[in-house]
Amino acid sequence: MLDFATVSASRRPAAERAALLSDPGFGRVFTDHMVTIRYADGKGWYDARLEPFGPLSLSPATAALHYGQEIFEGLKAYAQPDGGVALFRPEANARRLNVTAERLAMPRLPEELFLRAVELLVDADRDWVPAHDGQSLYLRPFMIATDPFLGVRPSSEYLFAVIASPAGSYFAGGAKPVTMWVSQEYSRAAPGGTGAVKTAANYAASLRAQEQAHEAGCDQVVFLDSVERRYIEESGSNNLFFVYDGELVTPPLGGTILPGVTRDSVLRLAGHQGLTVTERPYTLQEWRDDARSGALKETFASGTGVVISSIGTARTAGDEFTIAGAVEGPVTARIRDALLGIQRGTAEDPFGWRHRV
Ligand SMILES: *Cc1c(COP(=O)(O)O)cnc(C)c1O
Repeated sequence: MLDFATVSASRRPAAERAALLSDPGFGRVFTDHMVTIRYADGKGWYDARLEPFGPLSLSPATAALHYGQEIFEGLKAYAQPDGGVALFRPEANARRLNVTAERLAMPRLPEELFLRAVELLVDADRDWVPAHDGQSLYLRPFMIATDPFLGVRPSSEYLFAVIASPAGSYFAGGAKPVTMWVSQEYSRAAPGGTGAVKTAANYAASLRAQEQAHEAGCDQVVFLDSVERRYIEESGSNNLFFVYDGELVTPPLGGTILPGVTRDSVLRLAGHQGLTVTERPYTLQEWRDDARSGALKETFASGTGVVISSIGTARTAGDEFTIAGAVEGPVTARIRDALLGIQRGTAEDPFGWRHRV
């Protein structure tokens, strides 16, 4: 495998690091290092480095800046009770990056190179893995097209990089149930589009709807399918789950929903806990009617950032309904506890999801 050259950063003093780690928020504090690897057609991956975190130097003509040929991943490293650090299912992110790369006409990155890059960064900056409850080190691998060329075609050169950011709880309100805005004006993904892969364009297209959610006093936006505008798909960056008596329902993957690693983990844990797991199309009408009748017990969102977030209220233009009194329910809590227990190393790991660094 490619050897990594190491250029060590001047590390920030322990006192400065401790101050930043006391309240890191999300995505605004970065560690001392980053990883970069270059790619060129005909040459493959080369020039792998662990180096000081810092600005990239790019031509203003860089393809990614004009046509959005950018893809990314998101995963977390958790402090373990014995003082070690463990990543959560990084192999799944390595695989998904390549599914995304293929859709965006970008080169595959060998999975072992992805894992090595992430491990190297976590190892170099392990002092930045926060150890308080609910905290973690968020890792952001990404790949951009770097040809300095304005013609529209897949780039012939790419940069893969990994940066790391200590993270507190994702939603400002902590474990308090959130309010969702169901957008009936905008859609996130269409059949044949890029909704099932992790690319920047999906987020750019979701921002106006997210802004409207905030204007309507909501925390996040929920998108409907773009064909019939009836089926619940997912929220801007999270998959959605609906809890009935003994049953967990989630919309099926089918090309317009991002296959979350957390989603997959939730489905397996729910089965393990004896719930019936049902992947089926689920309408806004059902969500509303079943919330009002009480047949629907709980609703929650899942993603690497939030882990599990309870949804208490849903709002549309002109309507609003609450789910079970907008109080977090026991199934949501049980699944979150099981997941966090595995991630933080306080519970058994029956599926082998922890990856020690
Ligand atoms: C990343 C992402 C998710 C969650 O995926 P995880 O692997 O669980 O973090 C859900 N929806 C979208 C649109 C995403 O980009």
